[in-house]
Amino acid sequence: MTGGAAAPLRRRLTVDGVYLPQPSAAQVVVWQGDRIMWVGEDPSDAPPVDVAIRLPGAWVTPGFVDAHVHATATGLTLDGIDLGAARSADEVVTRLRDFVAVCDDDPVIGSGWDEHDWRVPQPPDAAALGAAAPGRRILFDRVDGHSCLVDPATLHDVVAQRADDGIDRDAQGAPTGWLREAAAGRARARIWRLLRGDRLDRARRTAAAHAAGLGITSLHEMGNPALSTLADARAWASGSWPVEVLGWWADIDATGALQHGLRPGGDLFLDGAIGSRTAAVTGGYRDGEALGGLFHTDSQVVDFFVRCTRARIGGGVHAIGDAAIEQAVAALERVAALAGVTAVRACRHRIEHVELPRAGHARRMAALGVVASVQPAFDALWGGPHGLYAQRFGRTAALESNPFDAFASAGCPLAFGSDSTVTPMAPWSGVVAAVEHRGGHGITPAQALAAATLGGRYVAHQDDVGPLVVGHRADLAVWDRDPFRAGEHDDPTCLLTVVEGRITHGSHQDS
Ligand SMILES: [Zn+2]
Repeated sequence: MTGGAAAPLRRRLTVDGVYLPQPSAAQVVVWQGDRIMWVGEDPSDAPPVDVAIRLPGAWVTPGFVDAHVHATATGLTLDGIDLGAARSADEVVTRLRDFVAVCDDDPVIGSGWDEHDWRVPQPPDAAALGAAAPGRRILFDRVDGHSCLVDPATLHDVVAQRADDGIDRDAQGAPTGWLREAAAGRARARIWRLLRGDRLDRARRTAAAHAAGLGITSLHEMGNPALSTLADARAWASGSWPVEVLGWWADIDATGALQHGLRPGGDLFLDGAIGSRTAAVTGGYRDGEALGGLFHTDSQVVDFFVRCTRARIGGGVHAIGDAAIEQAVAALERVAALAGVTAVRACRHRIEHVELPRAGHARRMAALGVVASVQPAFDALWGGPHGLYAQRFGRTAALESNPFDAFASAGCPLAFGSDSTVTPMAPWSGVVAAVEHRGGHGITPAQALAAATLGGRYVAHQDDVGPLVVGHRADLAVWDRDPFRAGEHDDPTCLLTVVEGRITHGSHQDS
């Protein structure tokens, strides 16, 4: 034998069934290096391989793409305290006390508390948290990510900034430690400055490994200066992870993103969120006053999409209320008038969330090839006739929110995401939520699986990844059973995750 690079390993996977993502008769996938080289029914027809993996009972799908994630925050929460099961202020405090007894992390990060259905709907105050974890900095995000609880020292710092927006106060006027929106953002920024590099790196590794364990092969990391830092976005972009991570950066002039090799916009806020009544809606709110409007002028949004289109790259904006969606769509139409429809379509721009579109928005987005980047779990959690959206806008508007079928029938490409930590990364739950839309605007299981696995590839211009066909990149997930078998209620378990041909999760994992 003479020298030279060894040929990349050739592997054969034999299972009970393969979704390509459409159902197929195939039971065998062979890949070499990072490319699929053979897909078929009978292993004896397959080309010879170096490694044969046989998983009876298992089924294969294309790897999932979570097209909207705040991944470092996700990892910090996974490494910290999950408060989702807490049913009272005392339980939150107990979890904190138990955590600090065994872990030195400072600041202490937790998230997921939701007081709205507690017997006494009041979270613990800063003094109670401080007593349970003396001297430690604490950041406990509410489930929606729009408010948080903090320790006494952080509260003192935030109050000392003398902006009173979002600071909850008791009957005597003293701040409780519950901070909303802008005040929560200031607290979060202070806590982030205290997080050491090794802690952030651990959080990134935790989040990426967690995603790989769920059959996710690619994450769209939505960097945003209000939620994380440019250094964090760059760390994701330059690191090596068990899932592919594609980074967006939310700056309105797009130049920062382009300079740093990140994709422009993404979770670039044109408005706020429904939970905090900051989404820009023309009809107003039924249960209180609107607390926000559009964050940018029309011409700023046009300029943003002009810059992206000139750079021939897809830009993204966050638009939840109908007024924000109108601003985004009208801006894109203006750019099409200036640069041509073909140039705009070629970019595959994206609008995040698009929860409250008007009639016609889906059709206008489809005409410009704009991707609807949606979170089906939002409808499952807050839609329906009696949920949060009904409280905010009435039953009819709530049932019309997140109309996945309108996007699909207009020919508007759909990509699914979790917006983790807002909802957990849970790709099968997203598929189910999209099918079982609570207002009757669901799509078929096949459409939902495609949006969850191929949609994120389309928007990222990854035209050689997604469907499990010869020549495509080998990115796939293997499940313990047929995920669409009738009568199953739990999500299937991911046995193997393959990213660019490497097994990054499961028993046959590459070292
Ligand atoms: Zn967003």
